[in-house]
Amino acid sequence: MNLEQELKAPQALSDGMQGGAVDGTLRLALANEDPEHAEGEVRSASSIGRIFGEITDASFKPWLAQLKSLLDRHQGDVLYIGRAGDLVHTELEAAERDVRVLDPFDESPGLEEVASTYGVIVVPGLAFAAWGRNRRKEDFQALVSDHLADGGLIVTDFPDPSLWKGSGVTADGAGNGNGDLAGMVTITRDPEGNLDVLDPSGEPSGASASPADGWETVDVKAGEVGDLERLLVSAGLVETYRTPSASDGSVARMYAFKRQNRAPLCHPFSPLTVSGSPGRVLVLTEGEGCKVRDAEGKEYVDACGGLWNLHLGLGNTEVIDAITAQLKKLSFGTLFAERGNQPALDLATKLIELAPYPMQWVCLTGSGSESTEVAMRVASYYHVLAGRKDQKRIAYLDESYHGSFAASTCVSGLNPFRRLAEGAVPSFALPTPNPAKCPEGVDYETFAVQCADALEEEAKAGDVAAFIVEPILGSAGVLIPPKVYFDRIRAICDRYEIVLIADEVATGFGRTGRWFACEHFELRPDIVTVAKGINSGYAPLGAVLFSAAIGEQFNARGVPLPHGSTYNGHPMCCASAIANLNVIERDGLVERSAEMGELLMDALGELSDLECTKEVRGLGLMCSVVLQQADGTPPAPLQVYDLYKRLQAAGVLVYPAPAGFSVTPALIVSPEEIALIASRIKDVVASVRLSDGAVTPLPGE
Ligand code: PLP
Repeated sequence: MNLEQELKAPQALSDGMQGGAVDGTLRLALANEDPEHAEGEVRSASSIGRIFGEITDASFKPWLAQLKSLLDRHQGDVLYIGRAGDLVHTELEAAERDVRVLDPFDESPGLEEVASTYGVIVVPGLAFAAWGRNRRKEDFQALVSDHLADGGLIVTDFPDPSLWKGSGVTADGAGNGNGDLAGMVTITRDPEGNLDVLDPSGEPSGASASPADGWETVDVKAGEVGDLERLLVSAGLVETYRTPSASDGSVARMYAFKRQNRAPLCHPFSPLTVSGSPGRVLVLTEGEGCKVRDAEGKEYVDACGGLWNLHLGLGNTEVIDAITAQLKKLSFGTLFAERGNQPALDLATKLIELAPYPMQWVCLTGSGSESTEVAMRVASYYHVLAGRKDQKRIAYLDESYHGSFAASTCVSGLNPFRRLAEGAVPSFALPTPNPAKCPEGVDYETFAVQCADALEEEAKAGDVAAFIVEPILGSAGVLIPPKVYFDRIRAICDRYEIVLIADEVATGFGRTGRWFACEHFELRPDIVTVAKGINSGYAPLGAVLFSAAIGEQFNARGVPLPHGSTYNGHPMCCASAIANLNVIERDGLVERSAEMGELLMDALGELSDLECTKEVRGLGLMCSVVLQQADGTPPAPLQVYDLYKRLQAAGVLVYPAPAGFSVTPALIVSPEEIALIASRIKDVVASVRLSDGAVTPLPGE
């Protein structure tokens, strides 16, 4: 990896600190001002500075080329915290830079007297540790904020403690004199100024070799040297460079840090820089029902129900009250170690009651992705238990999305990072029955059945464990396969003993106008995964439901569920789900979803006349607007992104899809809100033309 690549691919902070032997304490005896003790058996303050300098030199030596390369890329004066004449100092001067030296061992001017800003500040870790003895380490915050130029760099290092072990340092005449810290006796001074001699364990030794009055130890621990990195990060800097790992396993490193001009928050599937890019991220601060407001007080209608999950909308007091009551009663409970809690038991029972087709067992999870992982593991284990250990491969659709964990990534056709998870589970893609891919002259149902038959072709090898499928493909843009597709799939699964996993994470609990989307197709899955609408997003929660037949294989052999995580069955999450499901049931929100869905489809139907709308499709409150360019071709990703941002600016939040955007409001959405959603969308879509990969405002805009 060259330097450029290193800069682009910084590693996590401090892994060098965690691995290997980083223990070590450098103890040096500092003489007092008494010149009688400044010579001979003790080292003087300045000679201690020299030893620090020597160790720093030894530490930095392998990295001078990288230091020089970093210097070449950063303008401005240089501040060196170390000793004039050190190797690093010489290198800085050789690079013909104006260098200011702050010597931690001198009474040289403090930082407060250094008025200018610097393009590069070099602080060897050891110099920092010595420097930190005399001043508050918080001064580093000031160093960063007052003296680091915009775009400036702080370079530091973490020297390997073995370097200072071999430095020949002794504390005084009482040490073993061979530089081995393990056998070294050190002298400390307590707050009252009394001196004591310690043996290597840190206990008073009672040694007769009492040092001369006025000696003091410098005690530099490896961790203390590493403190600098933490300090730099807490001062708002980000690591932008670190030297590659040494092949000998040394923990020594050189690092460079830059001022962080962006928020440190990562957003899923977005560049790391997105949170700090001005105006890029919409930060929401409050909301109720289907309305949300940003930090400036601007109101938006949430047409995508959060992330398709806010069935009850925001701020439902019944759910909030249930959560509060549960937290007061039992704020945590585990399902590990043969413990349980009432909300988890009640929720499992409730889910079995609601299941689309008879299910027997419930495993609680923390998300849709986790549900996918568990479902696939249960399916694979089921085959092993049934004596079919070669049935390992998992089939998925090439336009599916089942999550972002390792195994769920492997079966998500739309997950761009599938290669990164390759091998987590053996999997293969099947063609998606996407009407846009239906060949000319072939009717859609025939095409869909051909897509299903691709499963049979693979199944003939006898090694397919499961097929995971969204009954309605959400992320792909609300694709609704015909019933014959699922009829054929079910038949193939039965024929080849393939476990059929229905992913109802997005579609479950009324989103499509039925409790579960499987019901539209009379599809009987063996395993169902859920999350999102299970508790309308009031707490992280998901679940996997599986059939009695699968459970039977586990029970026959007395084997355990092969999964568990601390928060599985968290009583607060379960209480939120029970309250949520009760409200959905009591208020008939599933039926309401079907009704409001029709209103929404009618209202969005008006978009169909527009040049850049190809199609509006949906079921219940799960709709998608499919866009096209003026020549009828699909929109480019940047055009979709542009439209998405225009809609946001117009006060309507939707969710981008590969060829358009999805509209999936909360199940409590009102007819007025549906009208508002549709009119805002129409205003935006009618105001632009999509052609040649660009979005052009139409005249009058
Ligand atoms: N399955 C489907 C169908 C989904 O739509 C999603 C998320 O959108 C997931 C699984 C993953 O769920 P989560 O984001 O909760 O991990």
